[in-house]
Amino acid sequence: MSNTPSSPTHVVSECLDCGHREPFSPLQATCPKCGSEWRTARYDYDRLASYLPAALPQRPFDLWRYHELLPVAQPRPEISMGEGGTPLLRLGKLGMMLKLPHLYFKDERQSPTSSFKDRQAAVTIAVLKEAGITEMVVASTGNVAIAYAAYAARAGIKLWAFLTSLVPAEKMREVAIYGAQVIKVTGTYDQTKQVAAEFARQRGLYLDNGARSLPTVEAMKTLAYEISEQLTERLGAPGNGFPWRTPTWFVQSVSGALGPLGVFKAYEELQWMGFVESPPKMALIQSEGCAPMAQAWKQDRRVAEPVRLPRTHIATLATGDPGRVYTMLYDSMKTHGGTFTSVSDEEAFRAMHILAKMEGLSVEPATAVAVAGVIQLARQGVIQPDDVVVINGTGHTMPIESHILGNRWIRKVDLSAQSKGEGEAEEPPADGLRSALSTLAAREVPHIAIVDDHEPARILLRRVLQSLGEFTISEASDGEEAIALARREHPDLILLDLMMPKTDGFQVIETLRSDPHTADIPIIAVTAKTLTPEEERRLSGQIEKLMLKGDFLTDELLDEIRALLG
Ligand SMILES: *Cc1c(COP(=O)(O)O)cnc(C)c1O
Ligand SMILES: [Zn+2]
Repeated sequence: MSNTPSSPTHVVSECLDCGHREPFSPLQATCPKCGSEWRTARYDYDRLASYLPAALPQRPFDLWRYHELLPVAQPRPEISMGEGGTPLLRLGKLGMMLKLPHLYFKDERQSPTSSFKDRQAAVTIAVLKEAGITEMVVASTGNVAIAYAAYAARAGIKLWAFLTSLVPAEKMREVAIYGAQVIKVTGTYDQTKQVAAEFARQRGLYLDNGARSLPTVEAMKTLAYEISEQLTERLGAPGNGFPWRTPTWFVQSVSGALGPLGVFKAYEELQWMGFVESPPKMALIQSEGCAPMAQAWKQDRRVAEPVRLPRTHIATLATGDPGRVYTMLYDSMKTHGGTFTSVSDEEAFRAMHILAKMEGLSVEPATAVAVAGVIQLARQGVIQPDDVVVINGTGHTMPIESHILGNRWIRKVDLSAQSKGEGEAEEPPADGLRSALSTLAAREVPHIAIVDDHEPARILLRRVLQSLGEFTISEASDGEEAIALARREHPDLILLDLMMPKTDGFQVIETLRSDPHTADIPIIAVTAKTLTPEEERRLSGQIEKLMLKGDFLTDELLDEIRALLG
């Protein structure tokens, strides 16, 4: 029974241009009435509203728990690899630094092929399987092709993957291992999409045509359903009479913006079913070198001017021409709130280090773009402290591209000089090993002392410093200890909290400055409150810099530290 082609009977395809409705079929690429490629899925929302609330709690937490809201007749356990149902992680330290206590990361890295494109591939491949389709075409900046290649292999569907030459070789190889046909197109992503579309047209093959492919947008909805269920479980019912929570912000790095399009569609449906009050605001972040949507938004234009030649290292985000998707999002965001913005590759790479070092999450640069966007918008006050913020943690970096780390991340222990000759499997002499290891520790890195009576603050500063560069870090938790540490270790820089019980920061400064041995140690004083004129007078000429707590992420701190350490 499950091997015979069937079609879902609960979903109607509705033309966005003429309103024509017909039963959904993946074989029908355009509206038979007006020829439009733009259609959307409609379900029986009244019926779903009446039984989903009781049915959902019985089901496993994966993407198929919402199968009645997907264009498939039935879930496909035989091709499933555990897609969807990813954890919603709280970013406690980054949130503390940005003063955003409700900052969350929807960890799509934990999908079968490590990006949220698995949702799109799992649902589309299930749709094709049901319709008896055995071959398909996709154009990709990498992750879509990887996801499709895996699910196509599992379902026995042949995949033609058109990749732009910007895609890192490692990702191309990942596509190839699954047996997909890889076609590398030397050109932009927009050109690659055109080549793939022409190929599919000539051969009469199913094409994943982005927002024009109904299963693609439908699949992305599951992100939103999951987020709202998870937030409700964590934070309780929203208290507005609706059973499910909406985050204040949904944040994502965007290329073609299929994710946000699906998320908006999901919230529209959740509203129709009476599950939520409203959709979230969207913060959609682009890479500065390819930011047609952010540009258009800034000029308040409803149509985006295509970027012909994207200039970004982040190939995943290289859609130069967002077309109608931008206009659809523009309209929704004008109604429900939100913003587009862009960040530089530099800012993204820095955010990538911060997230890895502070939260233990290694993401790909495209995902870090969203994190850099949150940092920017929180600083600008666009995202506010009480807001519940969910970042779509779109994907894992695999493997880490060399230009992101540079070549100074590894330290070597070389014992080859001690071994006597070729082929001799002799234990290295203990002396050699000991001296090799001692040179590891002795490497000259700047020494910074952190002085703060509040442990979480010390941990936070330590993480920030570790994300900025390589330092030896000592800590002291009160003024007396700080003075002893400075005399004993003579650090290259002291980050000193002014407000401490007993011996406070002011006294520490006076003591260190009056001792010739410690008088020259640079000090950056840190304060949580504005100083009185008397306090300012006491500091005058005594320190190199005064900083407000919470300002630690600024480039200013980094520049200051670099300048002070020479
Ligand atoms: C596809 C992708 C994006 C962009 O997603 P869209 O919603 O299609 O714009 C961002 N990050 C990663 C890791 C991706 O794979
Ligand atoms: Zn039509």
